[in-house]
Amino acid sequence: MAMTTINPLLSWTSEMKEQDVKLPALFIGHGSPMNGIEDNEFSDTWKKLGKEIFKPKAVLVISAHWLTNGTFVTAMEKPKTIHDFGGFPKELFEVEYPALGSPELAQEISKNIVSTSVGLDHDWGLDHGAWTVIRHMYPNADIPILQMSIDYSKPASYHYELAKQLVGLRKKGVLIVGSGNMVHNLRMVAWDKLNEPEFGYDWAKEINQIFKEKISSNSHNDLIAYEKLGSAAKLAIPTPDHYYPLIYTLALQGKNDEINFFNDKAVGGSLTMTSVKFG
Ligand code: ZN
Repeated sequence: MAMTTINPLLSWTSEMKEQDVKLPALFIGHGSPMNGIEDNEFSDTWKKLGKEIFKPKAVLVISAHWLTNGTFVTAMEKPKTIHDFGGFPKELFEVEYPALGSPELAQEISKNIVSTSVGLDHDWGLDHGAWTVIRHMYPNADIPILQMSIDYSKPASYHYELAKQLVGLRKKGVLIVGSGNMVHNLRMVAWDKLNEPEFGYDWAKEINQIFKEKISSNSHNDLIAYEKLGSAAKLAIPTPDHYYPLIYTLALQGKNDEINFFNDKAVGGSLTMTSVKFG
């Protein structure tokens, strides 16, 4: 029997055509989970970004808070909101972000990456590295959100090469967001100075400047070899969990992309919210 009807369930991912609009690639410093419910200068910028950027068909977040052995992408229809933190007000635990997932796009991503096998995950959901930011950008939760995990057994160069394979998605309506913090030393946070916006340790200011210069001059190799950037980098990146999402975003940078920094501030001296938009 000849099949003459077009499958009405054919999803947009199976016909992922290139579109004229190339979406930007973002690295967002997410900072405290409280940013998820606060209206402050950081979340205000996230709201603005959501309005400015051409509406994506889906958002893929690489969050500092999903570290795994191997690489996975969320593949469920309805990702749950994960409250992966402690000691915060009840109000924060009550937040639900009901965006859908996209099993089709998860498969597409898994197919796109050929350097390793990317597992389809049905257990995770949206951790606070994703939802505290995305709910400000897209308050109506009307865009499918996926997360890709960070294989924490692997070095920065590995993540860079892996992320390169996602670059085509920028022209297919997928907004890719690395969510971490470039400077992230929680042990050194001056909790008594959280409300002093100008306060930053000298080493934090120094390395923040170096990061921005390296990003502006496309010096990806220097940022991949961050351990060679000196003592300030060691203080900024005691562990690479919050830095690796930047590596993903860097790998997606196009030659002609405009580079815009935003939320370029330190919080408590040793954590920066510095974020960057390519394109
Ligand atoms: Zn975090």
